[in-house]
Amino acid sequence: MSVSQKIIDETEQYVLHTYNRFPVVFDHGEGVRLYDVDGKEYLDFGAGIAVFALGYGNKAYNDALKGQIDALIHTSNLFYHRPLLDASKKVIRHTGLSKVFFTNSGAEAIEGAIKAARKYAYLKDGSNDHEIIAMNQSFHGRTIGALSVTGNAHYQDPFKPLMGGVKFADFNDFESVKAAVTDKTCAILLETVQGEGGIHPADPQFLSQVRRVCDEKDILLILDEIQCGMGRCGTWLACDQYGIRPDILTLAKALGCGVPVGAFVLNEKAAEKSLMPGDHGTTYGGNPFALTAVSAVFDLFEKEKILEHVRELTPYLEMRLEELVSKHDFLAKRRGMGFMQGLVVEGRPVGEIVKRAIEEGLIIFSAGSDVIRLVPPLVITKEDIDEMVVRLERAF
Ligand SMILES: *Cc1c(COP(=O)(O)O)cnc(C)c1O
Repeated sequence: MSVSQKIIDETEQYVLHTYNRFPVVFDHGEGVRLYDVDGKEYLDFGAGIAVFALGYGNKAYNDALKGQIDALIHTSNLFYHRPLLDASKKVIRHTGLSKVFFTNSGAEAIEGAIKAARKYAYLKDGSNDHEIIAMNQSFHGRTIGALSVTGNAHYQDPFKPLMGGVKFADFNDFESVKAAVTDKTCAILLETVQGEGGIHPADPQFLSQVRRVCDEKDILLILDEIQCGMGRCGTWLACDQYGIRPDILTLAKALGCGVPVGAFVLNEKAAEKSLMPGDHGTTYGGNPFALTAVSAVFDLFEKEKILEHVRELTPYLEMRLEELVSKHDFLAKRRGMGFMQGLVVEGRPVGEIVKRAIEEGLIIFSAGSDVIRLVPPLVITKEDIDEMVVRLERAF
């Protein structure tokens, strides 16, 4: 029996079976390649689900974390520490917003954004019946609050009753959003580029119409950029390309490049009139270790010109994917922005393609029911893209 199989069998005895994991046991990574315990090499176009943007084994990132481990890992949020100053300054500088709260995950960032929006509306009229409009086919996380705004019946149904006061509208259909707006609406929540739902970028007109209705009615616009933010689309935030600012922004995934950390970030209006001392908290959230990672990520993105690299290479990635679409009948089209790309599959099970790709040494994931999702580390080269195409076609 392979080393992998032994570890898999034993692990399954102890771990709650909430994932049908791929039968791969990873050992270490280097750049954009991963190696399993049997020594097999994989080209990574998944980045741990859009997380490990800098690639594996980045020395400056690793050294920063090692240094912080020896200095101080945790203090609680009852005190100040230098990584909090450094990381928060960088988040605010690169988002153009006003105040940040650090969390441990994406779902928790969404929970905070929901609480901030409700509190904002509560302070305005003192009532407790405000509504949030979220999108069908969205994904915001698995905790009860985040699940309540996730427009996916399959994820929601077994866990009802969920949080109340949520209405769903269709993404990229402004009329359906408008129809859901009432005097009670406190927030409209959407992903600038829907990820899990199948890689759907927002239409520029849709996003500006949503922004406008939020301005007119003093509704907070919450943009979830947990997956599409942090350079993945070629700009710090995907919304930078739309010329739109949210009132509240959520970040996670690549924010710490593997160290678990998220954030919700508020503009001045939302920050001034929402969460106050005692309203919200977390024991771990934004501890010195996690925020050293955040700080290093921002520094290294600038030093290694990651955004420029994504913008420079996106046309090539898109061209190679378009070639695949014209060559293979079962590929209906390509969708996406920057290094967040999807291939829509028709008449073949996507899960099977993903499985075969992994067997061929290419890590990719699915999104929605029919989309191959490519969310590589942001440091891939042209040669990596060519190799991805070779391995993907072998999987086909
Ligand atoms: C992954 C994701 C989340 C949830 O993040 P977790 O860290 O898994 O809780 C929320 N929103 C979007 C858009 C995501 O892609």
